[in-house]
Amino acid sequence: MSINIAVLGAQWGDEGKGKIVDMLTPHFAAVARYQGGHNAGHTVYVQGKKFVLHLIPSGILHPGVTCIIGNGVVVDPQALFKEIDELAAMGVAVDGRLVISEKAHVILPYHRELDVLSEARRGERKIGTTSRGIGPAYEDKIGRRGIRVCDLLGDPAALAEEVRENVSARNRIIRDSTLEWQPLLEQILAYGERMRPWVGDVSLLLARMMREGRRVMFEGAQATLLDIDHGTYPFVTSSNASAGGVCTGLGVPPRAIGGVLGVAKAYTTRVGEGPLPTELSGELADRLREGGQEYGASTGRPRRCGWFDAVVVRYSARINGLDALALTKLDVLDGLPDVRLCTGYRTSQGTITEFPADLRTLAAATPVYETLPGWSAPSKGATRLEQLPAEARRYIARLEEVSGVECAIISTGSDRAETIVTPGSVVAGWLGGPHVAAGRT
Ligand code: GDP
Repeated sequence: MSINIAVLGAQWGDEGKGKIVDMLTPHFAAVARYQGGHNAGHTVYVQGKKFVLHLIPSGILHPGVTCIIGNGVVVDPQALFKEIDELAAMGVAVDGRLVISEKAHVILPYHRELDVLSEARRGERKIGTTSRGIGPAYEDKIGRRGIRVCDLLGDPAALAEEVRENVSARNRIIRDSTLEWQPLLEQILAYGERMRPWVGDVSLLLARMMREGRRVMFEGAQATLLDIDHGTYPFVTSSNASAGGVCTGLGVPPRAIGGVLGVAKAYTTRVGEGPLPTELSGELADRLREGGQEYGASTGRPRRCGWFDAVVVRYSARINGLDALALTKLDVLDGLPDVRLCTGYRTSQGTITEFPADLRTLAAATPVYETLPGWSAPSKGATRLEQLPAEARRYIARLEEVSGVECAIISTGSDRAETIVTPGSVVAGWLGGPHVAAGRT
């Protein structure tokens, strides 16, 4: 059976999607990104070599796999070229395997300036963005003045007109600055020329692949709680990171998505601002941060850490229709005397078990915890369920019950080999199909 699946973050991002996508990739002909920009950061270790990918799907590390950047993504050409050059230096060629949607919007150099400016203006209320121009590029898209990849390859006179208008609008916003539009036009025309070999009709390509029975993995960046509609607004990203984004961000029909895998850590982290009900401080937070190396792959910022929040994951399961979870970083909890699961929030209106829309409710919520015994024997490196300490298995079983989703994959270390695929799980069924890509770089 030819099943296409979506793999996306079930919490606030950094769940370890990179590793999960990487281990599943050999079962797919293509990996397609549907939203976000180069603010994502996937860290993948292949035979001891560290690859940090921001924009290009990590499937690029597997020869023969087509990597697609959808129309829902915003593309910074400079960041793209940097990533391509770095991959080339590590011996990975992208030619013939990378396809960028002609409908994707382009991040221009002044979008970065606008990003920094808008954060500075918000002061205390800052979002904690990566300041890479992603938000402003999406604002231009929704404001119907964005510049798309196809514009860089089309009529230069029409592009000149758009660039001139955009630059004068920007000069009105950034006072005391007079950006010249002509050099910018030349610069982006040159970007277009370099991008030309990789640009294509992504929706058409995917439709053809799927008709031929070639399997596609839809790769989410950021995560459900950072989704512009369903996340903790306004502390969110500017796109639909949840499953709905697959259709709009790639031009594929809902029925193309045969399964949805949510990636969640065995605890919770969040980078940037906004409420985090299970947030810990002090020694325990430091312990999780150091144990899990919880520092942003894109910015190096320390992540805020807390216990696993089943209210969040249950919400994610509903929004995305999760078939299963890939539970990552179980090993980070090794050696703790006890572990906790948040099953509800105490609020001024009583205890709630559904995720609230109003951030004030969330910020004032006190988690309701279940405490379970920890485990002293290591889960680290386990490749079979039987190798896990009994208490770790109990923790997972209870986590499944309170989240309402089965853990089909359990990750016990950063290496690809340190993974358990639960026998008889939905993922084990998905992987029963043909292996399309052979070998690795
Ligand atoms: P992503 O954006 O969701 O891919 O997450 P990041 O790449 O920012 O962070 C994931 C980090 O956790 C990477 O450094 C991974 O190598 C690491 N990682 C993934 N799974 C595990 C795991 O099960 N255990 C440990 N200790 N580290 C893991």
